[in-house]
Amino acid sequence: RLINPVGAPTVTQDLSENVILTTVDDLYNWTRLSSLFPLLYGTACCFIEFAALIGSRFDFDRFGLLPRASPRQADLIITAGTITMKMAPALVRLYEQMPDPKYVIAMGACTITGGMFSMDSPTAVRGVDKLIPVDVYIPGCPPRPEAIFDAIIKLRKKIATESWADQSAIAQTHRYHTTQHQ
Ligand code: SF4
Repeated sequence: RLINPVGAPTVTQDLSENVILTTVDDLYNWTRLSSLFPLLYGTACCFIEFAALIGSRFDFDRFGLLPRASPRQADLIITAGTITMKMAPALVRLYEQMPDPKYVIAMGACTITGGMFSMDSPTAVRGVDKLIPVDVYIPGCPPRPEAIFDAIIKLRKKIATESWADQSAIAQTHRYHTTQHQ
């Protein structure tokens, strides 16, 4: 045991080298940002770039990302592709079925503004953020897989600054509103 100059006992050298002190928020955020589960969702050509991430060349599993086929097992949705008026209610439903805390990355010109359909298409939604809240935008047509990685890193930085208490409050509010609309 190490003794400090005034004689009070202090931690052993072994212990100080093997114990990490942290906060609940940092531990909670570290686990979440290290294991984001994106929903397998795509409506147009942008999804081809998203699908490329799953293969061995880009290997996005190394970021802890594990694609899920069910919204109830996902905490991230990457809206890859055009959102049509007909698809809009389904997208909102999928988002509402995801458990809190959850995140949205808007990928590509079509999903961010309507893209090339924004001028004269009567069926394209001009911005997915009119339907669900967006955390990170990826401009481009289509954005390359590296741009998706960049967005994931930006999202991880955002998650790292969040407070567990705030997230609990948001989740409770969301549960209340979801219950009211059922
Ligand atoms: Fe396709 Fe370009 Fe629209 Fe992406 S932004 S869905 S690549 S047209």
